[in-house]
Amino acid sequence: MAQVRTQLPRYLDTCSAECLGSRPPVYGMGEVCHYGDMKITHLGHACVLVEAAGARILIDPGAFSDLWHGVRNLDAVLITHQHADHVDPDDAPGLLEKNPQAKVFTADDVDQTVLLPGAEPVIPGQTMSVEGVRIEAVGGNHAIIHQDIPRIHNIGYLLRAEGEPTFFHPGDALDAAPEGVEVLALPLMGPWAAMKEHVEFVRALNAPKCSIPIHDELLSDRGRELLSRQISNLTGTEIISLRGGACRDF
Ligand SMILES: [Zn+2]
Repeated sequence: MAQVRTQLPRYLDTCSAECLGSRPPVYGMGEVCHYGDMKITHLGHACVLVEAAGARILIDPGAFSDLWHGVRNLDAVLITHQHADHVDPDDAPGLLEKNPQAKVFTADDVDQTVLLPGAEPVIPGQTMSVEGVRIEAVGGNHAIIHQDIPRIHNIGYLLRAEGEPTFFHPGDALDAAPEGVEVLALPLMGPWAAMKEHVEFVRALNAPKCSIPIHDELLSDRGRELLSRQISNLTGTEIISLRGGACRDF
């Protein structure tokens, strides 16, 4: 079975530290959930580092976590949308300064809240390549929070690489269900959806074998466990928590 490793999150040039902690909780059948060498590290709330096919890709460095502040040697940074819990207006520009070689892709209205030098706005259907990873932009709109709150754009990112599982980070939307997702960054809770919608979302994706809970900073540990168990039981997806900067090969 693939190792789960917890490393010191400040030093993320590589994610090769030995396991320092106990295995994070797994909800589901406990089957082996392993495809290749795609390494995924959960750096708090919606922030995920994906390492595959020679690329280091960071998604959604938001203000609800600082575990990503020290990440270096990035090839790309992907921003799903403009909310501060997905792109930290104070610290994300500094991250890009420290990673001058990284390509930056964002939803096309992110510049309403934060200016990221060199950022390229993307639209649904667009595809980008970073090293050996093909990235597809899907979705288009943030889930409705309330009818009185203007809706903003949201891009979900589908990552494919030869010999690796297909990985999907939907941002804050549950309406795009691309085919072939094997590892899902699963938003566990937000003020824009109820658990029944999360369950239907996982089902619409044909219940990816592996789901990594994200978007969980508004939950207590009790809430994390409750929702993880329920969603796993109702969909069959295996939920693997990488909370606290843990990483794992998929
Ligand atoms: Zn959010």
